[in-house]
Amino acid sequence: MTKSNSLVAMDLATSLHPSTDARALEKTGPLIMDRGEGIYVYDTDGKQYIEGLAGLWSVAVGFSEKRLAEAAMKQMEKLPFYHIFFSKSHEPSIRLSDKLIEMADDPRLSRVFYTNSGSEANDTVIKLVWYMNNALGRPKKKKFLARQRAYHGITIGAGSLTALPANHKDFDLPVIPVIHLTCPYYYRLAKDGETEAEFTHRLLVEVEDTILREGPETIAAFIGEPVMGGGGVFPPPQGYWRGIEALCRKYDILLVADEVITGFGRLGTAFAFKKYGFSPDIVTVSKQITSSYMPLGAVLFGEALYNVVADNSHKIGTFGHGFTASAHPVVTAVALENLKIIEECDLIGNAARLEAPFQNGLRQLAELPFVGDVRGLGLLAALELVADKRSKCPFSEAGRVGALAMQIAHEQGLILRAIGDTLALCPPLIVTEDQVREIIERMRRILTLTIERIPGLGVA
Ligand code: PMP
Repeated sequence: MTKSNSLVAMDLATSLHPSTDARALEKTGPLIMDRGEGIYVYDTDGKQYIEGLAGLWSVAVGFSEKRLAEAAMKQMEKLPFYHIFFSKSHEPSIRLSDKLIEMADDPRLSRVFYTNSGSEANDTVIKLVWYMNNALGRPKKKKFLARQRAYHGITIGAGSLTALPANHKDFDLPVIPVIHLTCPYYYRLAKDGETEAEFTHRLLVEVEDTILREGPETIAAFIGEPVMGGGGVFPPPQGYWRGIEALCRKYDILLVADEVITGFGRLGTAFAFKKYGFSPDIVTVSKQITSSYMPLGAVLFGEALYNVVADNSHKIGTFGHGFTASAHPVVTAVALENLKIIEECDLIGNAARLEAPFQNGLRQLAELPFVGDVRGLGLLAALELVADKRSKCPFSEAGRVGALAMQIAHEQGLILRAIGDTLALCPPLIVTEDQVREIIERMRRILTLTIERIPGLGVA
């Protein structure tokens, strides 16, 4: 048995994989990745792939950044673990908080709380907001507004904010009070002839009607991904975020931006809220904060919330929330170095500069049959395949064409993600213009091969 065969057998005998059809995996075996180099990863047979999804929308600096290994090693040797419970602290955590606040560059965002993941960051938001409203003597103000197709994680709380069937069904979610509003999915949910501005208006009316129906005194926060990712990549229609912000201010509702995908340059700005010109009360981040070399999440918030928490925790002598590895020194040291690289190499500027070649190149693929919509901004994009381009009618069995395209993409050496029949792309921020061209050429080949095989699937 070769090494890779024995690894496949061992994996199948021992593992349960996230977001995977376990029985299907038993037939195919996993694709085992072995090493990384720049925007490329190599499997155990030595086959090279462009990592067109940056891992899980997360590896900004590519897959071979030695400086991050060195930063981890240095901190491992100096102080491999310490926590920030019980009035302790350490330098990497302090410096990272300072850096995050500097990058956020918004007077509303002046405090940081660390977690190990994006899910935990969003769970922390739920708890902070509930804690705040209890402390303020308004215990009814607990509900969250979120959107259909949102992805905010999979823990019990964050998983409740998520609104994707696979993350709810048979998990008994949602369990927190959350109302899922219409997804800002212009391509499919706008009515015939409805402009973006009209669509935005309709969505904002729905938000306001919901607030008034439920009672503003019951709504604690509105949470949203500035550009929705895992649900299918949905940039908001024109004026959406400014409108949501105005409603949140009007009804004293906290505005939470889940920037777990969009944070640290994905859209060509440090944070997506900068691109859309709004000012959230709370921001959650993860993923690109360390380029996913280490697990880390964080919640950024302001003095108003901080002061309520500080006063209330003072009464009982502690703030009873935190994780053993909140602000882990090795992880925060790696995050600091990663953010330094993002700045020194101007990776945010790179995303802004490559937005046009990437997005325009992909939009040209809309000339192909079955390519119904191409959307995205910065270095985040999706192509939605449909049975009928004119009517936008989806395929009769959702996901078959997407799965086929993903399989062909793997054969063609491009990792992407199929979300139903939508193909998502999100290359590392270090990608070059030549590599962007290569990704688009490969996408054209992948789509052409997929299109040839669609009639055989019997789903059109
Ligand atoms: N929020 C968003 C927008 C995400 O995309 C994700 C992960 N894909 C999460 C939260 C959850 O992060 P994690 O997987 O680190 O828990």
